[in-house]
Amino acid sequence: MATSKALVFKQFVAANKITHAYIIEGVNEELQFDEILTFIKLLVCDNAACNECSICSMVNNGNMADLKIIEPEIGAKVIKKEQILDLKRDFSKKNTEDSPQFYIIKKAELMNAHAFNSLLKFLEEPDDHIIGFLLVNNIKLLPETIKSRCQVLTYTEQINSLSDYIKINALDEEGIDKINMVISLVNSAMSGRADMIFKKHQILKLYNTGDALKDCLKIMILALNDRLKEGLGTHIIAKCDKIEGDRLTNKQLANLITELGLLEEDLSYNLNKTIAMDKILILLQKRGA
Ligand SMILES: [Zn+2]
Repeated sequence: MATSKALVFKQFVAANKITHAYIIEGVNEELQFDEILTFIKLLVCDNAACNECSICSMVNNGNMADLKIIEPEIGAKVIKKEQILDLKRDFSKKNTEDSPQFYIIKKAELMNAHAFNSLLKFLEEPDDHIIGFLLVNNIKLLPETIKSRCQVLTYTEQINSLSDYIKINALDEEGIDKINMVISLVNSAMSGRADMIFKKHQILKLYNTGDALKDCLKIMILALNDRLKEGLGTHIIAKCDKIEGDRLTNKQLANLITELGLLEEDLSYNLNKTIAMDKILILLQKRGA
Protein backbone atom coordinates (compact mmCIF):
# COMPACT_ATOMS: atom_id res chain seq x y z
CA MET A 1 0.00 0.00 0.00
CA ALA A 2 2.72 2.43 0.98
CA THR A 3 5.24 1.22 -1.56
CA SER A 4 5.37 4.30 -3.72
CA LYS A 5 6.46 6.50 -0.83
CA ALA A 6 8.83 3.93 0.61
CA LEU A 7 10.40 3.90 -2.82
CA VAL A 8 11.19 7.58 -2.61
CA PHE A 9 13.11 6.94 0.57
CA LYS A 10 14.74 3.82 -0.82
CA GLN A 11 16.02 5.86 -3.72
CA PHE A 12 17.43 8.41 -1.31
CA VAL A 13 19.20 5.67 0.58
CA ALA A 14 20.46 4.07 -2.61
CA ALA A 15 21.77 7.35 -3.91
CA ASN A 16 23.34 7.98 -0.53
CA LYS A 17 21.69 11.34 -0.49
CA ILE A 18 20.68 11.28 3.12
CA THR A 19 20.56 14.76 4.57
CA HIS A 20 20.23 15.63 8.22
CA ALA A 21 16.72 17.04 8.16
CA TYR A 22 13.62 16.44 6.13
CA ILE A 23 10.33 18.20 5.94
CA ILE A 24 7.60 15.78 5.00
CA GLU A 25 4.55 17.61 3.74
CA GLY A 26 1.16 16.01 3.38
CA VAL A 27 -2.19 15.60 5.08
CA ASN A 28 -2.03 11.96 6.03
CA GLU A 29 0.27 12.08 9.01
CA GLU A 30 -0.25 8.46 9.98
CA LEU A 31 0.86 7.28 6.58
CA GLN A 32 3.83 9.64 6.51
CA PHE A 33 4.85 8.53 9.97
CA ASP A 34 4.82 4.89 8.85
CA GLU A 35 6.92 5.84 5.87
CA ILE A 36 9.52 7.45 8.06
CA LEU A 37 9.64 4.36 10.27
CA THR A 38 10.25 2.30 7.14
CA PHE A 39 13.03 4.65 6.14
CA ILE A 40 14.61 4.35 9.58
CA LYS A 41 14.32 0.57 9.46
CA LEU A 42 16.05 0.58 6.09
CA LEU A 43 18.96 2.34 7.74
CA VAL A 44 19.20 0.34 10.95
CA CYS A 45 17.97 -3.16 10.10
CA ASP A 46 20.55 -5.55 8.67
CA ASN A 47 17.91 -7.07 6.51
CA ALA A 48 16.39 -4.10 4.69
CA ALA A 49 13.48 -3.32 7.00
CA CYS A 50 12.53 -6.97 7.43
CA ASN A 51 9.94 -6.12 10.11
CA GLU A 52 10.87 -9.34 11.90
CA CYS A 53 14.14 -8.68 13.68
CA SER A 54 14.45 -7.17 17.14
CA ILE A 55 15.64 -3.83 15.74
CA CYS A 56 12.63 -3.52 13.46
CA SER A 57 10.26 -4.32 16.30
CA MET A 58 11.89 -1.69 18.50
CA VAL A 59 11.31 0.88 15.79
CA ASN A 60 7.73 -0.30 15.26
CA ASN A 61 6.93 -0.29 18.97
CA GLY A 62 8.48 3.10 19.59
CA ASN A 63 11.08 1.88 22.05
CA MET A 64 14.21 2.40 20.05
CA ALA A 65 16.49 4.51 22.24
CA ASP A 66 17.91 6.43 19.29
CA LEU A 67 14.54 7.47 18.00
CA LYS A 68 12.80 10.40 19.67
CA ILE A 69 9.32 11.46 18.76
CA ILE A 70 8.09 14.95 19.53
CA GLU A 71 4.49 16.09 19.31
CA PRO A 72 2.27 18.48 21.25
CA GLU A 73 1.87 17.22 24.80
CA ILE A 74 -1.59 15.91 25.63
CA GLY A 75 -4.00 18.82 25.78
CA ALA A 76 -1.40 21.28 24.45
CA LYS A 77 -1.77 23.13 21.21
CA VAL A 78 1.87 23.99 20.73
CA ILE A 79 5.21 22.24 20.73
CA LYS A 80 7.33 23.95 23.34
CA LYS A 81 10.96 24.97 23.36
CA GLU A 82 11.61 22.64 26.31
CA GLN A 83 10.66 19.64 24.18
CA ILE A 84 13.31 20.57 21.62
CA LEU A 85 15.88 21.24 24.36
CA ASP A 86 15.14 17.84 25.91
CA LEU A 87 15.78 16.24 22.57
CA LYS A 88 19.12 18.01 22.19
CA ARG A 89 20.11 17.01 25.71
CA ASP A 90 19.19 13.36 25.15
CA PHE A 91 21.14 13.22 21.93
CA SER A 92 24.21 14.94 23.28
CA LYS A 93 24.44 12.49 26.19
CA LYS A 94 25.23 9.70 23.81
CA ASN A 95 28.30 9.75 21.66
CA THR A 96 27.52 7.18 19.06
CA GLU A 97 30.03 7.44 16.30
CA ASP A 98 28.44 5.04 13.87
CA SER A 99 24.86 4.47 14.83
CA PRO A 100 22.43 7.10 13.62
CA GLN A 101 20.00 8.91 15.87
CA PHE A 102 16.61 10.00 14.69
CA TYR A 103 13.94 12.41 15.72
CA ILE A 104 10.48 12.93 14.32
CA ILE A 105 8.50 16.08 15.01
CA LYS A 106 4.82 15.47 14.40
CA LYS A 107 2.63 18.48 13.60
CA ALA A 108 5.82 20.53 13.32
CA GLU A 109 3.87 23.66 12.37
CA LEU A 110 2.68 23.76 15.98
CA MET A 111 6.11 24.64 17.30
CA ASN A 112 5.99 28.04 18.95
CA ALA A 113 8.51 30.73 18.05
CA HIS A 114 10.89 29.67 20.84
CA ALA A 115 10.76 26.05 19.75
CA PHE A 116 11.48 27.08 16.16
CA ASN A 117 14.51 29.04 17.33
CA SER A 118 15.85 26.14 19.36
CA LEU A 119 15.36 23.81 16.44
CA LEU A 120 17.04 26.28 14.14
CA LYS A 121 20.16 26.26 16.30
CA PHE A 122 20.07 22.48 16.17
CA LEU A 123 19.82 22.54 12.38
CA GLU A 124 22.60 25.09 12.07
CA GLU A 125 25.13 22.77 13.64
CA PRO A 126 24.30 19.54 11.87
CA ASP A 127 25.65 16.32 13.23
CA ASP A 128 26.02 13.66 10.55
CA HIS A 129 24.62 10.99 12.82
CA ILE A 130 21.38 12.78 13.52
CA ILE A 131 18.53 12.65 11.05
CA GLY A 132 15.36 14.62 11.71
CA PHE A 133 11.92 14.58 10.18
CA LEU A 134 9.40 17.37 10.43
CA LEU A 135 5.87 16.36 9.57
CA VAL A 136 3.65 19.18 8.36
CA ASN A 137 0.28 19.63 6.79
CA ASN A 138 1.37 22.61 4.82
CA ILE A 139 4.96 23.70 4.43
CA LYS A 140 3.98 27.35 4.06
CA LEU A 141 3.36 27.41 7.80
CA LEU A 142 7.04 26.84 8.57
CA PRO A 143 9.54 29.72 8.84
CA GLU A 144 11.81 30.22 5.84
CA THR A 145 14.89 29.73 8.04
CA ILE A 146 13.78 26.20 8.90
CA LYS A 147 12.72 25.33 5.36
CA SER A 148 16.01 26.41 3.85
CA ARG A 149 17.90 23.95 6.05
CA CYS A 150 15.81 20.91 5.24
CA GLN A 151 15.19 18.65 2.32
CA VAL A 152 11.51 18.90 1.43
CA LEU A 153 9.46 15.89 0.41
CA THR A 154 5.89 16.54 -0.61
CA TYR A 155 3.57 13.60 -0.84
CA THR A 156 1.57 14.26 -3.93
CA GLU A 157 0.44 10.75 -4.62
CA GLN A 158 -1.55 10.46 -1.47
CA ILE A 159 -4.93 11.98 -0.83
CA ASN A 160 -4.22 15.66 -0.40
CA SER A 161 -7.47 17.14 -1.54
CA LEU A 162 -11.10 16.23 -1.95
CA SER A 163 -10.51 15.81 -5.69
CA ASP A 164 -7.88 13.16 -4.88
CA TYR A 165 -10.31 11.54 -2.46
CA ILE A 166 -13.02 11.40 -5.11
CA LYS A 167 -10.62 10.08 -7.72
CA ILE A 168 -8.91 7.47 -5.57
CA ASN A 169 -12.19 6.16 -4.16
CA ALA A 170 -13.74 6.29 -7.65
CA LEU A 171 -16.82 7.99 -6.26
CA ASP A 172 -19.95 8.32 -8.35
CA GLU A 173 -22.59 11.00 -8.00
CA GLU A 174 -24.04 9.34 -4.94
CA GLY A 175 -20.63 9.34 -3.27
CA ILE A 176 -20.15 13.01 -4.12
CA ASP A 177 -23.60 13.78 -2.67
CA LYS A 178 -22.47 12.22 0.60
CA ILE A 179 -19.39 14.45 0.60
CA ASN A 180 -21.57 17.47 -0.09
CA MET A 181 -23.71 16.61 2.93
CA VAL A 182 -20.61 16.56 5.12
CA ILE A 183 -19.48 19.92 3.74
CA SER A 184 -22.95 21.30 4.27
CA LEU A 185 -22.77 20.25 7.93
CA VAL A 186 -19.38 21.95 8.30
CA ASN A 187 -20.76 25.13 6.75
CA SER A 188 -23.79 25.10 9.05
CA ALA A 189 -21.64 24.52 12.13
CA MET A 190 -19.14 27.20 11.21
CA SER A 191 -21.82 29.79 10.59
CA GLY A 192 -23.90 28.77 13.60
CA ARG A 193 -27.02 27.86 11.62
CA ALA A 194 -29.82 26.02 13.38
CA ASP A 195 -30.13 23.35 10.68
CA MET A 196 -26.86 21.94 11.98
CA ILE A 197 -28.67 19.61 14.41
CA PHE A 198 -30.76 18.08 11.64
CA LYS A 199 -27.74 17.67 9.41
CA LYS A 200 -25.79 16.12 12.26
CA HIS A 201 -28.39 13.36 12.64
CA GLN A 202 -28.41 12.77 8.90
CA ILE A 203 -24.65 12.40 8.85
CA LEU A 204 -24.60 10.10 11.88
CA LYS A 205 -27.06 7.84 10.06
CA LEU A 206 -24.97 7.87 6.91
CA TYR A 207 -21.64 7.38 8.63
CA ASN A 208 -22.80 4.94 11.25
CA THR A 209 -19.67 3.00 12.18
CA GLY A 210 -16.47 4.18 13.82
CA ASP A 211 -14.55 3.75 10.57
CA ALA A 212 -17.22 5.55 8.58
CA LEU A 213 -17.15 8.45 10.99
CA LYS A 214 -13.38 8.57 10.66
CA ASP A 215 -13.93 8.84 6.94
CA CYS A 216 -16.40 11.64 7.50
CA LEU A 217 -13.83 13.49 9.59
CA LYS A 218 -11.24 12.93 6.88
CA ILE A 219 -13.58 14.55 4.35
CA MET A 220 -13.99 17.56 6.66
CA ILE A 221 -10.23 17.87 7.05
CA LEU A 222 -9.65 17.61 3.31
CA ALA A 223 -12.34 20.22 2.62
CA LEU A 224 -10.77 22.61 5.15
CA ASN A 225 -7.36 21.85 3.73
CA ASP A 226 -8.63 22.73 0.25
CA ARG A 227 -9.92 26.00 1.70
CA LEU A 228 -6.53 26.63 3.32
CA LYS A 229 -4.74 25.96 0.05
CA GLU A 230 -7.03 28.46 -1.67
CA GLY A 231 -6.28 30.94 1.09
CA LEU A 232 -2.60 30.42 0.37
CA GLY A 233 -3.13 31.09 -3.30
CA THR A 234 -3.70 27.70 -4.93
CA HIS A 235 -6.70 27.45 -7.20
CA ILE A 236 -8.70 24.35 -6.32
CA ILE A 237 -10.82 22.69 -8.95
CA ALA A 238 -13.46 20.84 -7.00
CA LYS A 239 -15.93 18.27 -8.15
CA CYS A 240 -17.94 18.88 -5.02
CA ASP A 241 -19.07 21.76 -2.81
CA LYS A 242 -16.61 23.91 -0.89
CA ILE A 243 -16.28 25.34 2.61
CA GLU A 244 -18.08 28.68 2.57
CA GLY A 245 -16.60 32.10 3.11
CA ASP A 246 -13.26 33.16 4.45
CA ARG A 247 -13.94 34.10 8.02
CA LEU A 248 -10.92 32.17 9.24
CA THR A 249 -7.33 33.27 8.81
CA ASN A 250 -4.93 30.75 7.32
CA LYS A 251 -3.41 30.19 10.72
CA GLN A 252 -6.81 29.55 12.31
CA LEU A 253 -7.67 27.14 9.53
CA ALA A 254 -4.38 25.33 10.01
CA ASN A 255 -5.03 25.06 13.75
CA LEU A 256 -8.53 23.80 13.16
CA ILE A 257 -7.24 21.14 10.75
CA THR A 258 -4.69 20.05 13.33
CA GLU A 259 -7.25 19.89 16.11
CA LEU A 260 -9.60 17.84 13.96
CA GLY A 261 -6.63 15.62 13.18
CA LEU A 262 -6.17 15.03 16.90
CA LEU A 263 -9.81 13.91 17.11
CA GLU A 264 -9.07 11.44 14.34
CA GLU A 265 -6.74 9.76 16.80
CA ASP A 266 -9.50 9.74 19.46
CA LEU A 267 -11.77 7.97 17.02
CA SER A 268 -9.25 5.16 16.77
CA TYR A 269 -9.91 4.48 20.44
CA ASN A 270 -13.56 3.68 19.90
CA LEU A 271 -14.94 6.89 21.21
CA ASN A 272 -18.74 6.97 21.26
CA LYS A 273 -19.83 8.21 17.82
CA THR A 274 -22.30 10.85 18.99
CA ILE A 275 -19.81 12.23 21.47
CA ALA A 276 -17.15 12.25 18.78
CA MET A 277 -19.44 14.12 16.38
CA ASP A 278 -20.32 16.64 19.10
CA LYS A 279 -16.63 17.23 19.73
CA ILE A 280 -16.09 17.83 16.02
CA LEU A 281 -19.00 20.26 15.85
CA ILE A 282 -17.89 22.16 18.93
CA LEU A 283 -14.49 22.71 17.33
CA LEU A 284 -16.09 23.87 14.09
CA GLN A 285 -18.49 26.21 15.88
CA LYS A 286 -15.79 27.67 18.06
CA ARG A 287 -13.44 28.30 15.16
CA GLY A 288 -16.12 29.55 12.88
CA ALA A 289 -17.53 32.04 15.34
ZN1 LIG B 1 14.67 -5.96 10.59
